[in-house]
Amino acid sequence: MINQLIWTAILVSIQNLGHAQSKEITIRFIGNCGLQLSDGISNIYTDFPYVSGFNQYMEYKDSELIDIKDSSIFIFTHKHPDHYSKKRMKQVLKEKGGSKYGSWDIAQLESLNKIIPNFRIQAFKTQHFLSRKHYSYLIEWHGKRIFLSGDTKHTETIVSINNIDWVFMPAWMVREAFMDNKLKIDSKMFAVYHIGLKDDIRISGERFLMLKKQGELISLPYD
Ligand SMILES: [Zn+2]
Repeated sequence: MINQLIWTAILVSIQNLGHAQSKEITIRFIGNCGLQLSDGISNIYTDFPYVSGFNQYMEYKDSELIDIKDSSIFIFTHKHPDHYSKKRMKQVLKEKGGSKYGSWDIAQLESLNKIIPNFRIQAFKTQHFLSRKHYSYLIEWHGKRIFLSGDTKHTETIVSINNIDWVFMPAWMVREAFMDNKLKIDSKMFAVYHIGLKDDIRISGERFLMLKKQGELISLPYD
């Protein structure tokens, strides 16, 4: 009888575990500011596909393009080639369907909540050298708040947002935010992306993840 009770308890906890595990957002690092976000149902790619290896930034394998899920959403911060490839994007949309969003149709982008359940995205116009239209984004998905800086080094926007779970910021913003100015950014975790050969960034601590390894996976379990 006791054994049976124990077994029942174990089985129940295994089932709960399985259930809990399926409720997560995963964020996979592809390269530069290229990320794949998924809740297991919808797939969102940010700043990908870009021009592989452009300006000595990260290359990616062709398999990344082949592995893109059907009917995905593609969101771009701006159109510099290390973030966006017109040719590759056209090819992917033709082969796999889906739709792309960016600075050219912010209103459409901000109404993505009509397509993706429990999702909201807010766009912030931010500055970036040699780009007149650059946006950073705050994504709220299943209650998790993810901020994508893109290429900007300017911190006015990010310091004005509260209660973020993960901030993605480029290497040059780290210098601006933590080394030169010691700003307080209200985020649990920080991922540093778009680390180039010339970016000698050294920042450590449990709250920082340096995205140097392509394919790195971040998990955000939600209730
Ligand atoms: Zn860039």
